[in-house]
Amino acid sequence: MMSLFETGIDGVKGVVIDKGFKCTICQNENQQLFHTYYSHHFKQEITYCRNCIMMTWSTTETYYQLTEIPSLPENLECHLDFELTEQQQYASEMIDEAVKTGGKRLLHAVTGAGKTEMILKGIQSARSIGMNVALVSPRVDVVKELYLRMTSYFTADIDVLYEGHPLTYNSTFVICTVQQLYRYFHHFSLIVVDEVDAFPLPMDDRLMSCIHRAATPVSTIIYLTATPPKRLIQQFNPHDIITLPARYHGRPLPVPSFKYLSIKTVLKGGLSARLQQRTKGTLLLFFNNIREMETAGEVYKNFNPVTVYADDALRHEKVDQIRAGHHLIVFTTSILERGFTKAGLDVWVIDAGSFTSECLIQMAGRVDRKRDPYKGEVVFFHNGVSSSMQKAVKEIQRMNHAAVSLGWIK
Ligand SMILES: [Zn+2]
Repeated sequence: MMSLFETGIDGVKGVVIDKGFKCTICQNENQQLFHTYYSHHFKQEITYCRNCIMMTWSTTETYYQLTEIPSLPENLECHLDFELTEQQQYASEMIDEAVKTGGKRLLHAVTGAGKTEMILKGIQSARSIGMNVALVSPRVDVVKELYLRMTSYFTADIDVLYEGHPLTYNSTFVICTVQQLYRYFHHFSLIVVDEVDAFPLPMDDRLMSCIHRAATPVSTIIYLTATPPKRLIQQFNPHDIITLPARYHGRPLPVPSFKYLSIKTVLKGGLSARLQQRTKGTLLLFFNNIREMETAGEVYKNFNPVTVYADDALRHEKVDQIRAGHHLIVFTTSILERGFTKAGLDVWVIDAGSFTSECLIQMAGRVDRKRDPYKGEVVFFHNGVSSSMQKAVKEIQRMNHAAVSLGWIK
């Protein structure tokens, strides 16, 4: 069945009454997850579903339309002006095979492995036999980035959906936030979930059920991440986990070094001498919280740092300015730990022991991502080495060794 939910003025109601309330969108029947209030707009009481509230506003007064969409095979032309690496070809074949057989796979690919290029072949195969394709991520910035990449590789009608951005085509190839999948019911036969473990909704059960609901009964679901949490790994048969330890440019992951310097000392100016010695590159300094980041911003104001955090109203402008090279010292929270790439980056993590190993791996993974080599530094500042720091370094070294023994890096 190929169906699509869309909000409209008629159709099925979001919340229906049948021996109590029931949500048509998420199938919720738990009465405690409904809330009723008096609406001045409708001049009556309305009830909404709290279970799927971060995906839609499903109420007794909202309507959804169910639309049949025929299967539309198409031959996508792919424009790549470079050759895939041996590892990317291997992964491409594995994904292409999964598209033919169905089932789920976990691609554990290191930061900078070139994941996006690995899924192109699978998408082409899927579309050639009329399978609808969705590329999803929990994060809007990753969705936008994926859309730019996909439209540069494929000449195709690609729909991009996130809050406030409407459908343009017929949903045969969709790039969207996981939240936007609520619109679809048994619609996609290939779903690729990028950065599956990303903040803000890691492994949320409702989002996982949303993914399954949007998928056709026989489908292929590919999960991509550089840092799979244990809970995710446990959901896979080991044969269905594909480990990709090499970066696309053939150089190893930078290994972090440890430096004893407590957050207290950092906030009293303890980094000044080190900052003064810098002569090249852009420095990303990660802080565990906004308060410490802002205090540091004051303490080191002679160095003209720019501060960026998640709820920063100027976040997107600042990130563009950093990309353009206007700031050489960036104080940030974990918001830049993923998706941010720039030439000549160095990474310092302040109070490193307070981060999870996954965060530390992502932050370290910002360094030396471009094709031109850059000997950047990754320093974990700490006041006592934590197990997460040790785990992060061990994992980075394990991947480097694996890549060497497979012959995928020099
Ligand atoms: Zn609901």
